[in-house]
Amino acid sequence: MISDNNIRKYLKLINSLGLSSSDRIIESSPTTLIVKIKNQSLVNFSSNNYLGVSDDDRVKHAVKKALNIYGLGSGGSRLMTGNSKVQLELEDKIARFKGYPSAITFATGYMANLGVVKSIVRPVKLDFMSSGTRREDGVVFSDSLNHASIVEGVKLAGCEKHVYEHLDSDDLEKKMTLSNLKRKLIITESIYSMDGDIVDLSKIIGVAKKFNSMLMVDDAHGTGVLGISGRGIVEYSECAKEDIDILMGTFTKAFGGFGGFIVGSDQMINYIRYSANSYIFTAPIPPVIASGLIASIDIVINEPERIKKLWDNIYYFKKLLTEANINFLNSTSQIVPIFIGDEKKTVKTARRLLEDGYFTSPVIWPAVKKSEARLRVTITSMHEYSHLESFVYALDKNMKVK
Ligand code: PMP
Repeated sequence: MISDNNIRKYLKLINSLGLSSSDRIIESSPTTLIVKIKNQSLVNFSSNNYLGVSDDDRVKHAVKKALNIYGLGSGGSRLMTGNSKVQLELEDKIARFKGYPSAITFATGYMANLGVVKSIVRPVKLDFMSSGTRREDGVVFSDSLNHASIVEGVKLAGCEKHVYEHLDSDDLEKKMTLSNLKRKLIITESIYSMDGDIVDLSKIIGVAKKFNSMLMVDDAHGTGVLGISGRGIVEYSECAKEDIDILMGTFTKAFGGFGGFIVGSDQMINYIRYSANSYIFTAPIPPVIASGLIASIDIVINEPERIKKLWDNIYYFKKLLTEANINFLNSTSQIVPIFIGDEKKTVKTARRLLEDGYFTSPVIWPAVKKSEARLRVTITSMHEYSHLESFVYALDKNMKVK
């Protein structure tokens, strides 16, 4: 139980590190290339709006039109108050985009991860299960750097779990032998949200097949980014769709909006709809947002040049960083950790960059391990080469300040 004293100490620490969110109030749209903070224009290297669709006029038009029809809210949870046509259209659209038979949307990606693990691994004991069929609990094998929403989803499931070394399929294979439980679920991400490295999915699929395990992939940062048409990790890895049982994603990143989703087989999605508490007992993505998301998915489908520009920018930025001898860990994606290590120095560097006109986020413990602080830089299709060049110059200069 937290004491008053410890609450005060904690808040003081946040302030002393310069992490108080009141420091960085964005007065403009938070997703555009140029953002305004304290009346200063800054180049945005902090947004997950990877393809620049969030502020597109077509998206805004769709939202304005929908607002006039549907109003602001959703009215209540979908099982209680019914489905809006546009919510079903969004599920159909994202299922087709990802190439799966069915999709279910959640209020956020966090909710999707939070609810689904328990549904799969430790489902509610139904009446028919106690008469004759025994409920069989399962075991989870989770990558050590999986997102907090997965970690909490596993905790909520209250099941046996084993954590394997980050992206290490050999360690995963070793850990798979530690459990006697027959029903197994492996959980990995596609692009890791703080390190920017990408899973070798075919290796993970190999282990899943060997041990007859189910596989869940969080493709939050891969959707819209990986693969020639941005379909995500499955397109990028050229693996069979059926090899992934639960493919999760979010609308908050490349689609520039709000909400989460899971795609899979008809049966699996239908089951999740009637078993995941984080779907059943909370309000869904409101129709007005769903309408904007349909427009933004259309833009991603129809304008693949955005994905090409994003990757040109990623390669160019990495080339500049390499030339400047700046450590970006093993990132091979649009998420580029600029590794500094020391927490205070990282926060100071972010502040100096702010003064020079660049908006980046310092990331410190507990989001990453202690002494592994970094700036989390995100590259988008909105950047031009000139932005990347001047930013690397500013980074280099500010990282050298003692
Ligand atoms: N998974 C990963 C890997 C994420 O990075 C995030 C968000 N940062 C989420 C899930 C949660 O998504 P949302 O923002 O839609 O809640």
